Amino acid sequence: MFNNKELFKTVFKEKLVSCLGKSIEEASPGDVYKMLGTLIREFIGREWAETNQAYKVQQEKQVYYFSMEFLIGRLLGNNLLNLGMLETVRDGLLDLGWNLEEIEEQEPDAGLGNGGLGRLAACFLDSLASLGYAGHGCGIRYKYGLFEQKIVDGHQVELPDDWLQKGNVWEECREDKRIEVCFWGRVEVSEENGRTVFNSVDYEKIWAVPYDVPIIGYGDLHVNTLRLWSAESAVEPSKMRMEGQNSYYKFLDYTRSAESISEFLYPDDSGYEGKLLRLKQQYFLCSAGLQSVLRTFEKLGLPYLELPHKVAVHINDTHPTLVIPELMRILIDERGFGWDEAWEITSRTVSYTNHTLMGEALEKWPVNMVRELLPRVYMIIEEINKRFCGMLLERYPERQDLVSRMAIIEGDQVKMAHLAILGSYSVNGVAQLHTELLKSDVMKPFYELYPERFNNKTNGITHRRWLMHANPKLSHLISESIGTDWIKHPHQLLRLESFKNDPAFLDQIMRIKRGNKLRLAAYIQQKQGIAVDPDSIFDVQVKRLHAYKRQLMNILHVMHLYNDIKDHPSQERVPRTFIFGAKAAPGYYLAKSIIKLINVVADVVNSDPQMDGKLKVLFLENYSVSLAEKIIPAANVSEQISTAGKEASGTGNMKFMMNGALTIGTLDGANVEMHDMLGDENMFLFGLRSEEVVNYYKYGGYLAREVYNRDPRIKRVMDQLMSPGPFCCHEREFGMIYQSILDHNDEFFVLRDFAGYAETQAAIDQAYLNAQSWASKSVVNIAHAGHFSSDCTINRYARDIWHIRRVGPLLEV
Ligand SMILES: *Cc1c(COP(=O)(O)O)cnc(C)c1O
Repeated sequence: MFNNKELFKTVFKEKLVSCLGKSIEEASPGDVYKMLGTLIREFIGREWAETNQAYKVQQEKQVYYFSMEFLIGRLLGNNLLNLGMLETVRDGLLDLGWNLEEIEEQEPDAGLGNGGLGRLAACFLDSLASLGYAGHGCGIRYKYGLFEQKIVDGHQVELPDDWLQKGNVWEECREDKRIEVCFWGRVEVSEENGRTVFNSVDYEKIWAVPYDVPIIGYGDLHVNTLRLWSAESAVEPSKMRMEGQNSYYKFLDYTRSAESISEFLYPDDSGYEGKLLRLKQQYFLCSAGLQSVLRTFEKLGLPYLELPHKVAVHINDTHPTLVIPELMRILIDERGFGWDEAWEITSRTVSYTNHTLMGEALEKWPVNMVRELLPRVYMIIEEINKRFCGMLLERYPERQDLVSRMAIIEGDQVKMAHLAILGSYSVNGVAQLHTELLKSDVMKPFYELYPERFNNKTNGITHRRWLMHANPKLSHLISESIGTDWIKHPHQLLRLESFKNDPAFLDQIMRIKRGNKLRLAAYIQQKQGIAVDPDSIFDVQVKRLHAYKRQLMNILHVMHLYNDIKDHPSQERVPRTFIFGAKAAPGYYLAKSIIKLINVVADVVNSDPQMDGKLKVLFLENYSVSLAEKIIPAANVSEQISTAGKEASGTGNMKFMMNGALTIGTLDGANVEMHDMLGDENMFLFGLRSEEVVNYYKYGGYLAREVYNRDPRIKRVMDQLMSPGPFCCHEREFGMIYQSILDHNDEFFVLRDFAGYAETQAAIDQAYLNAQSWASKSVVNIAHAGHFSSDCTINRYARDIWHIRRVGPLLEV
């Protein structure tokens, strides 16, 4: 239908009239968006049902990717792309007087995630569907996604993200498939026919209502499902007799408390505080998701011992770890299995991805909270722990210390990572370095016990969203040069290497980059009224704000550049535009203070005529998927400067590489693998190596104050944080930053790596002067970025972890 422009126009106009009673002239951009979405939904409806039917008939093994976050962004453009209708619809709309890009702006981002972890889940769904795997997402339909960030007077202000306000054209509510989830109550233990029986009583139940979002694969129509659960009160008003004075208010309270479970996403990247609501959310996802998975499995009519052959439950970090005890509970209490059989089934069904090495981000829950909220689940965790510790003591007699360190329950805390490793058949890290550090350090005793479980799966990004959709001009140039095979086989991008010395090709690469920079410049002009020079180096650091990601090092270096330009005003400079985008968790004061600093520096620099043509600094508010799609294609330099050993993988680094930016970075996360492919010539490395960082932590020997006293550039910028001058309006404003570096000895080695960073930035200036050579490096980066397509990552998960095969084009079934 959408492959023919004229047909599309006719159908579209009819749809507008029949649904909204409007002619094309009367329609608003919002109407056009809604109608396009509705048309697509109707168009794929049959294929969606057929995909599910095919999986069922063929008894395909199905993967369920459980994640508390899916940072999807917008769907309209990507759905049109994957359906092969993007061009037709763009042209057809143009005939009707509409610009598709403008229509795409009507769609609110589905911001159901914080950052990398949630975006990974979204990229994986796109790859699963595009490759024809039977793989679905299972998450929460938060009423409010990640907060919207406004910058007011240089400070971050958080606003609620009411993304569902105008409805969601992509979702389908499946009221008939709702599921009961129980909290609180107590467990009655009794004996029946010589078997111990556990009966949960006095619990509170709520409804989990699924909202299904179709995940449309690229090319052959293959539509998987992202099932998002919404919490609803299970008390029906008609059944609740309005007795007594307070019953009406009790009813309202009850409803509110049930609905609060899926009300909002926790705006924290790592290190969740022990919040009861967060624990409720996790169990809600696990229990509803699992019950629905099992309901589908049971329709196959197979014995439960077959479950691991037909179902893979994957948990994205430890947030959904409760699937392990929950599956045990269902198998034992509701399906009558004994412990050993239940354990066998469970631990062959669940696999786990670890996302962090940082101690404070490893989830722990207070025993009392788990025991009260989930009494039966807690009993099961206790039993898993008891058996595990018993086994450990047999294996390591005399090592009580080791046993308590490895236990699932230690003192008054439940350690979710330990439970996740124990209850899974596969544990993977997300980049080679990260996996090695897991095995050699954080999870070492577990690795020694279960070496066969540990494996690496380096993260990836979907090249459909991050290259084809975000950078259509580059995508076309690639297809003109090497054909279109790369779209289905992203490794083929390697063939671009043969163009790295082709002047005409390099010329086009530069022209496309400049076009993207102009587009971003127009956006900045419109949002902030600041003119940026498209011929300056666009140097970009966009990601969540975290001390370990070291936005601080970047901005301190900008302050140094400012000082240097002031000192030597007549010196020639290579013009630079530093672009930042970052949200800070609302309670993370240091991070918020760094945002303020970036904004203060931006004001000072941008309003100083001496900086004209030399230096500009911008903070773009509300970093999100749709903003990333505007910024990344325009970048010349990608800042990936985390303290070595701290960034598990990073995926922003891959998006920039795929769009031809050159990376300035540390040997951290997937940067290491980028460097293996690119070599020193095509990447700008600096800074401590992860072993050196580990050694400093272990043996000491680093004094930030020494560096401060030794390097006058550093002393000057640090002092400028505290004393009157261009950057400091009142004394305490940046005190926390100053103290984190000088009083708390710079946990993330900002000062230690500063000199190397500054030197490397100077080398970038020189490299950029040779435009041809820069473009050539850019081509090498693009060529190797195919390796980081999430298609490759998903193929490895499918082969090594899930043991699933590609279903391929759907046959008539
Ligand atoms: C890719 C992405 C991230 C992750 O970026 P990193 O640089 O890997 O931390 C975070 N937020 C958004 C919106 C993204 O698209």
